[in-house]
Amino acid sequence: MSQFDYDLFVIGAGSGGVRASRMAAGFGARVAVAEDRYMGGTCVNVGCVPKKLFVYGSEYMQHLNEGAGFGVFVAGKTFSWETLRDNKTREIERLNGIYNNLLNNSGVELISGRATLIGPNEVEVAGQTFTAKNILIATGGWPFVPDIPGKEHMITSNEVFYLDEFPEKALVLGAGYIAVEFAGIFNGLGAETELVFRGEQMLRGFDEEVREFVSDEIAKKGVKVTAQDNVVSIEKLPNGQLKAALQSGEERVVDQILCATGRRPNVAGLGLESAGVELNDAGAIAVNDQFQTSVEHIYAIGDVVDRIQLTPVALAEGMFIANRLFGDKDYPELDYENIPTAVFCQPNIGTVGLTEEQARVHCRRLRIYTSSFKPMKHTLSGEDERSLMKLIVDDASDKVVGAHMVGPEAGEIVQGLAIAMKAGATKAHFDSTVGVHPTAAEEFVTLRTVTRH
Ligand code: FAD
Ligand code: NDP
Repeated sequence: MSQFDYDLFVIGAGSGGVRASRMAAGFGARVAVAEDRYMGGTCVNVGCVPKKLFVYGSEYMQHLNEGAGFGVFVAGKTFSWETLRDNKTREIERLNGIYNNLLNNSGVELISGRATLIGPNEVEVAGQTFTAKNILIATGGWPFVPDIPGKEHMITSNEVFYLDEFPEKALVLGAGYIAVEFAGIFNGLGAETELVFRGEQMLRGFDEEVREFVSDEIAKKGVKVTAQDNVVSIEKLPNGQLKAALQSGEERVVDQILCATGRRPNVAGLGLESAGVELNDAGAIAVNDQFQTSVEHIYAIGDVVDRIQLTPVALAEGMFIANRLFGDKDYPELDYENIPTAVFCQPNIGTVGLTEEQARVHCRRLRIYTSSFKPMKHTLSGEDERSLMKLIVDDASDKVVGAHMVGPEAGEIVQGLAIAMKAGATKAHFDSTVGVHPTAAEEFVTLRTVTRH
């Protein structure tokens, strides 16, 4: 009989924690998971899932407008925020139930409440102490809000999914994933929307050509794009509106300000010091390649270790831990290269591999293939939207080292390209692949002319 209550105690039932708990229990381990807010974590409740539902909703207005070019006329278009918000919430509640069942059916014990480490093998939840041979911290991230006067008047991605009223005028601060996605959502649903950010261009870290292209497309859709500026203070007016003072000296009066200025590892009040778990310089839990913290049997995965803040990455890290501890001891270490990602701005971005700027550092000579075109649908829709496809090829090996797309369903398309790139596909492989016609995706296998070296 083990001296511990559990073989594995997981803190946080989000993407990484749920996957690790279920798999560990499946391997026969005695597992408990503590959750203090919502089953399924950020992704299910205030992240990927409700965001994508809102993106779908916001695209409908454009689709309805486009119909006229195809002879489909829709009269009396109106938008009900309450309907979208409440239907979304019902779906999330359904998913919460599914997550509960999945864990229960796998034999994982669910403990409701905030967990705190009180020793190397001890966790406290709601006054009760539990002991575990191994502990996994999967507490995710939390929105970072700059410390400016009136910051309490801004909302973050935690609140935006539950607003009482849809804003007529919205200001979105930041230019990362969340900012550009919500600028599209607000704008698509009819709010007068402005994206304000401190940098020269939105979406730092993405391919420069993609950044420029998508910035133009977002502006064409009606979002006011204000670069090299920042919100420095906010005042609530008697009528409930918000007056934002910008660094440039200008002012904006809007109904909501969404602060999307990054997410920080969620480590506050976790009791890390009582267990001896150390943070790195970025304030994330420091882990080695096996996700071990400074305490051998305490592990951490997902946004709280701040490697790549994406759900599939947290899932992969959770599977690694469950396997290494209780299943396949030789389970391979995670490969963080060629992780595909999509930004659900409008139009979408899909990307995998190196940007042109990164490739210039890694490869001696490159071949860059690009194609920018009006998607077939928009030849009749009346929309002035364009797509961009880009392949980056290492000239010496002929390997495709980067694939980027701006356009409808870019994420769906890039997922397939990511498999090819993981398998080491060369440009010759792309060229010898027969296209699917008529699609946008076929451009990726018909790019023959080098745009530049
Ligand atoms: P989380 O899913 O955040 O789970 C952590 C859980 O721990 C939470 O449920 C929290 O309540 C709980 N917790 C924290 N502290 C304690 C404690 N002390 N005791 C008990 N429980 C605790 N990623 C994508 O791949 N695609 C997307 O489209 C996408 N869209 C996003 C949109 C938004 C608006 C946001 C905010 C994020 C989005 N992400 C997306 C990122 C994705 O949601 C995260 O990378 C992912 O959820 C991280 O999983 P995790 O397990 O590390 O943490
Ligand atoms: P990001 O890190 O993507 O972007 C943060 C933005 O905030 C940047 O534009 C940054 O500017 C700006 N910023 C940071 N600090 C300040 C400040 N003090 N004042 C003004 N601006 C500031 O974070 P997000 O919050 O958008 O998203 C968090 C993470 O969640 C993402 O990185 C992503 O991993 C994940 N996510 C994934 C999605 C997906 O897969 N589709 C969707 C949503 C989130 P600068 O560039 O100048 O530093």
